[in-house]
Amino acid sequence: MGPSKAEILAKEFDIHTYGDLLHYFPFRIVDRSRVSTIDNFNSDEPYLVFRGRISDLHTVTSGRFTRLEATFTDGTGMMSLVWFQGLKWIKESLKVGTIYNVMGKPTLYGSILQIAHPDLEVSSLYDERPTHAFLPIYRTTEKAKNRGLGTKAIARITSTLMQHVPRQLPETLPADIVAKYHLMSRISALRSIHYPSSMEEWQQALLREKFEELFYHQLDYQYSRIARLQHSVGRIFGIVGNRFNNFYNHHLPFPLTGAQKRVIKEIRADMRSGRQMNRLLQGDVGSGKTLVALLTILIALDNDCQACLMAPTEILATQHFANFQKYLADQDIRVELLVGSLRASQKKKIKQRLANGEIDILIGTHALIEPDVQFQRLGYVVIDEQHRFGVEQRSKLWGKSDIPPHILVMTATPIPRTLAMTLYADLDCSIIDEMPPGRQPVATTHGTDANRAQLFNFMRQEIAKGRQVYVVYPLINESESLDLKDLMDGYESISRSFPQPQYQLSIVHGQMPADAKAYEMDRFKRGETHIMVSTTVIEVGVDVPNATVMVIENAERFGLSQLHQLRGRVGRGGGQSYCILMTKNELSSTSRQRIQTMCSTTDGFAIAEADLRLRGPGDLQGLQQSGMLDLKLADLVDDEPLVCATRDEVHSLLDTDPDLQHPENKLLRQYIQNNNRPHWDKIS
Ligand code: ADP
Ligand code: MG
Repeated sequence: MGPSKAEILAKEFDIHTYGDLLHYFPFRIVDRSRVSTIDNFNSDEPYLVFRGRISDLHTVTSGRFTRLEATFTDGTGMMSLVWFQGLKWIKESLKVGTIYNVMGKPTLYGSILQIAHPDLEVSSLYDERPTHAFLPIYRTTEKAKNRGLGTKAIARITSTLMQHVPRQLPETLPADIVAKYHLMSRISALRSIHYPSSMEEWQQALLREKFEELFYHQLDYQYSRIARLQHSVGRIFGIVGNRFNNFYNHHLPFPLTGAQKRVIKEIRADMRSGRQMNRLLQGDVGSGKTLVALLTILIALDNDCQACLMAPTEILATQHFANFQKYLADQDIRVELLVGSLRASQKKKIKQRLANGEIDILIGTHALIEPDVQFQRLGYVVIDEQHRFGVEQRSKLWGKSDIPPHILVMTATPIPRTLAMTLYADLDCSIIDEMPPGRQPVATTHGTDANRAQLFNFMRQEIAKGRQVYVVYPLINESESLDLKDLMDGYESISRSFPQPQYQLSIVHGQMPADAKAYEMDRFKRGETHIMVSTTVIEVGVDVPNATVMVIENAERFGLSQLHQLRGRVGRGGGQSYCILMTKNELSSTSRQRIQTMCSTTDGFAIAEADLRLRGPGDLQGLQQSGMLDLKLADLVDDEPLVCATRDEVHSLLDTDPDLQHPENKLLRQYIQNNNRPHWDKIS
């Protein structure tokens, strides 16, 4: 290959060595031994092969555009082949009457079947070279294609490469695992994944490669978790004392659910282990994570430490503060709130008292991580709703104590099991998988503008019953002013249909000053207003049990996890609650599936799974930036059994040989030593 092509390979595909090329796998194999017929083909297949003749070839000009059209027949029917680019060259190279293999996906254009830019080859070629009955299709880019590196050109290169690959290559997976799972050998898999001799063989090769990818991924994460556990030092919270016991025995507002108890035990075990806790607490919206935070904070206090609780928004921090004050009234525990909107003098005083050890629990927002916030003896940090905090922000909290504090990160965005297993293999994870008793699932329906009168009537009925209503508008950062206009228009229309003094409305949006927001939230919380019209500022954590109706406008513009979070704002008071998803009439197929998912289930984990399926893991909030998810082959949804198998294998391997000292694990040890990818061995 010449230097200019080599440069394209390097630039466009990150291929620099033979090894890189060998690992540039085709994303599809076309089985050219299976020829479909035009009168009867499976339209679900992404790629089909037809064999027949071109009977007519001509260019068509309409407007400024010229295209090349060919009529193709295979004896069972007719279809049209179309090209929009490279017309001259294609026209000259095609011959009427010659038998071709035509490959691609036919679509119906009007009443005519058509393939745009099909792959074509003279059929006799295929007959002469049956080894290439299975054609690898490689991903390529526009740029590479223009420089002569389309999928066929890449196939020519890999095909040449195959002739030079040695017969043997060192195995990269432990021999017993290869045997146990009947995996293909490394060298066979690397050959067959490019040039299989049957589709089954290709599947086997793919399986082996996915297994290897997931196995090493697990090895990385689990190995660093063990390293962390071995080396980290943490404060030992040896006792459960008066503060915990007093609250637990006399002030607990309701009996804990079984799941809450179990999770508190798990945290408790970490706290007295002598190692620093790094725990992720997952629990669906409304599952009662706050109480878990409070109770475990009391354990920290019992062990002479200070604790802090960090929330992503001021509204939420303020609400936590109010709850803590309520729960801890008359218990001689000093709780303070530190948020950006406090006056400078107030902040200064709080910081002084904090440094002197006169505050036990500090609740706040980002303000907590400013450098001048110094604790006397910080022992425990709880972070609510982790997705709003960046990695860097968390690590600042980390540094606020000589012995690192125990850390609990609480998230209400459930992560699908396989994803958690993959991403957090190095973290400890607790799950609250049980709701407090008496919750009724929120009845969810879908509506459009045609249903608006009906919707308003329904809202009136609920308000007449003494209930309250949320109406939420999306706020997408790119066009804040436009979104705000949506919100204001909506507010006006609602005010007309719900006139004062009979109805009282609140409005909250991101561009209001903090105290105005807090004032409106407060009025709604106290039941003074009936309807809260807002942007997604209420998304996270707000708790108004008397609200039973959640109307989400432009629901098609929200992601599934956001919709789920919003819906979680209602259904907290024991009364039957409702969520109405308002959308425009025409929906894309993913939007429709999202709305259908919401209408059919309230299980956060099921929704997270659906989200993963609809969006693909690469899109999951925050994951892409964090670079945590770097699987190339394996799919967390489809390959769940493989994820589980590799996790278990790595687990038992590290169980018997935690330092990878056994001779048969030499290869794995080398991998760990040479591998310099970042290690996410701390949450922060
Ligand atoms: P989240 O997990 O979403 O943060 P919260 O901690 O805000 O949930 O709790 C949701 C609601 O459930 C609150 O009103 C809280 O008082 C209530 N709650 C929490 N634990 C229990 C329990 N064990 N029994 C009954 N209600 C509970
Ligand atoms: Mg919460």
